[in-house]
Amino acid sequence: AVQYLPGKEPHAREKRLIFKNIDRVGYDPSIECYLNDGGYEQLKVALTMEKTAIINEVKAAGLRGRGGAGFPTGVKWGFIPPTNTKPVYLICNADESEPGTFKDRYILHQDPHQLVEGMAIACFAVGAKLAYIYIREEFPYAAKIVEKAIAEARAKGFLGQNILGSGFDCEIYVHRGAGAYICGEETGLIESLEGKRPYPRIKPPYFPAALGLYMCPTIVNNVESLCHVKHIIQMSGAEYAKLGTPNNTGTRILCVSGDVQKPGYYEVEVGKVTMGEVINDLCGGLKPGRKLKAIIPGGSSAKVLRADEKFKLKDGRELTIMDIPMDFDTMAACGSMAGSGGVIIMDDTRSMTWVINNLNNFYAHESCGQCTPCREGSLWMKKLSDRIVSGNGSPDDVDTLESVANQIEGKTICAFGEACSWPTQSFIKKFRDELKSDCKPDLANKIVSEEGILA
Ligand code: NAD
Ligand code: SF4
Repeated sequence: AVQYLPGKEPHAREKRLIFKNIDRVGYDPSIECYLNDGGYEQLKVALTMEKTAIINEVKAAGLRGRGGAGFPTGVKWGFIPPTNTKPVYLICNADESEPGTFKDRYILHQDPHQLVEGMAIACFAVGAKLAYIYIREEFPYAAKIVEKAIAEARAKGFLGQNILGSGFDCEIYVHRGAGAYICGEETGLIESLEGKRPYPRIKPPYFPAALGLYMCPTIVNNVESLCHVKHIIQMSGAEYAKLGTPNNTGTRILCVSGDVQKPGYYEVEVGKVTMGEVINDLCGGLKPGRKLKAIIPGGSSAKVLRADEKFKLKDGRELTIMDIPMDFDTMAACGSMAGSGGVIIMDDTRSMTWVINNLNNFYAHESCGQCTPCREGSLWMKKLSDRIVSGNGSPDDVDTLESVANQIEGKTICAFGEACSWPTQSFIKKFRDELKSDCKPDLANKIVSEEGILA
């Protein structure tokens, strides 16, 4: 039986596919451990299948991208133009940087071969002979561990020329980022990989699946998404699709942080646990004597939910925050997003002014500066919220802050524009009174600089 380190045992509500070997007693990232656990058997199976059959299994599984957007993985693989004559590339996006998200790092550190096997299968299915794993700079150990795993896989014939005698050639290379959040945006990542400044490209009309790395068809998938591939081959797409709920299939890893007794990672069937069960069962409840105030359900770019909100859905359901099933569609119907699985819990000791200021500082620092509304707007949002949090804000500053956010949303090249404006918009919409109460009413209509009152 699989044994886990003390205190790291999976909760009864968990269903572990991807995290089966995480924090497991006697399991290390070596290929020996992986092979003892049935490693690379699914690659052998996949190499005997038709490429389209593999893509069809992934489509039948209903796997949706675990990086955050939830786009169907099999559909994305099918977007490579059928008339294509150029090389095809696969890129694993391991630039996990969304505040509140920390799942991919565990996979890279503790079970890298699961990713390598998933990538080799994906490469075979989409016809890629060359793949890259783009790892953020802040994961130096992960980069070393994955490079070792790739070398081990190559030595055993799971990568390289004529893999397992199938005639299929495939190489995977690690590429290190240099500390920029925008390199996680897939087209910024591609620019960076090409050796350029990571300015995101406009999409649509062209998505990487048609025009990506070196203007060749390129599939960009998240670490966790690629790890699911071997399980889909093992189980079959139809069996995998029985996990989770319709249109929200399989398992996903929730990264829970903030004001709960047991923050951490939890792999659950998508949509089979509610927010209340995440907080009270998986995470052991709130800290003693505290009350829930707000939740960011899917990484910092997701809109905040207030603890006392009621959600009336189009299908007739009426939900409290605790009733929301943790799936892509319901979270979107409740006005936020399941995103990258980073669930940030905030109790009544938290200042929403502080939170919004913290986020605005992050986004101002990470804007790539390519488009004016984002470059200027994110900086102004930082300055305004710096002023409010320092006690020098006027109540008008809250309205100005909202107005700046409104002028960014929908007016930028990449989704970072929404990622930085949505938190501000939603915090102001839901906590306007608190933000205004942190301002000085007597400063209303006065001109206030960063240093203080001017007039
Ligand atoms: P997106 O919806 O634009 O695209 C999702 C994926 O589907 C992309 O790979 C895209 O190329 C593909 N796609 C979409 N429509 C397509 C089409 N018509 N043809 C071909 N391919 C198509 O979203 P995005 O901008 O890639 O990602 C946004 C999400 O990223 C956010 O929701 C956020 O949750 C997440 N995010 C995650 C992290 C992290 O660290 N994991 C960091 C920042 C943001
Ligand atoms: Fe860069 Fe922001 Fe424009 Fe995205 S929205 S391209 S991060 S300036």
